[in-house]
Amino acid sequence: MDLKGWMASWPVYRQLTGADRLGRGRAAQSDRSRDLHARTTTADRWAPSVCPYCAVGCGQRVYVRDEQVVQIEGDPDSPVSRGRLCPKGSASTQLVTGPQRLRKVRYRAPYATEWTELDLDTAMEMIADRVVDARARGWQDTDADGRPLRRTMGLAALGGAALDNEENYLLKKLFTSWGAVQIENQARI
Ligand code: SF4
Repeated sequence: MDLKGWMASWPVYRQLTGADRLGRGRAAQSDRSRDLHARTTTADRWAPSVCPYCAVGCGQRVYVRDEQVVQIEGDPDSPVSRGRLCPKGSASTQLVTGPQRLRKVRYRAPYATEWTELDLDTAMEMIADRVVDARARGWQDTDADGRPLRRTMGLAALGGAALDNEENYLLKKLFTSWGAVQIENQARI
């Protein structure tokens, strides 16, 4: 390294001789910082999405490289959030890529002490069977005086504050179509 290059490796030299006279920008930047780049710049593409964490429903851009999610950022085109994400939403990449994420259905049978793994089709069939059974066992066709009820008391829905308007709309439609009358949301309680 020549003398000039050696001098330029000093932040104070760069501060005194360059444009960054306050030493808050490039003059104070290390080689490592200069070589860093955002994961979004090397992504192949991005797909629009919605943050899953709360009912605000902030818009997200999911960046993908080699068919793997590499970063999730706020979507500036979202009328809800205009590019912003709270700290939780900003960390949602970890929800997708975190090593602790469960990727198989876990099932603990009644009285069992251990979890077992199920394939998704089996789990969905089991849920459907239970819904049909609970609906039938709780069904009330008429009251004691013969007036029509046509409802089930065997099913109820309690939504959480992570559900947004559209999800609550669909839940209400679904449970009402099954004849359930006990349909609530945490946000209303
Ligand atoms: S958790 Fe944060 S980023 Fe996600 S929808 Fe709610 S406010 Fe938006």
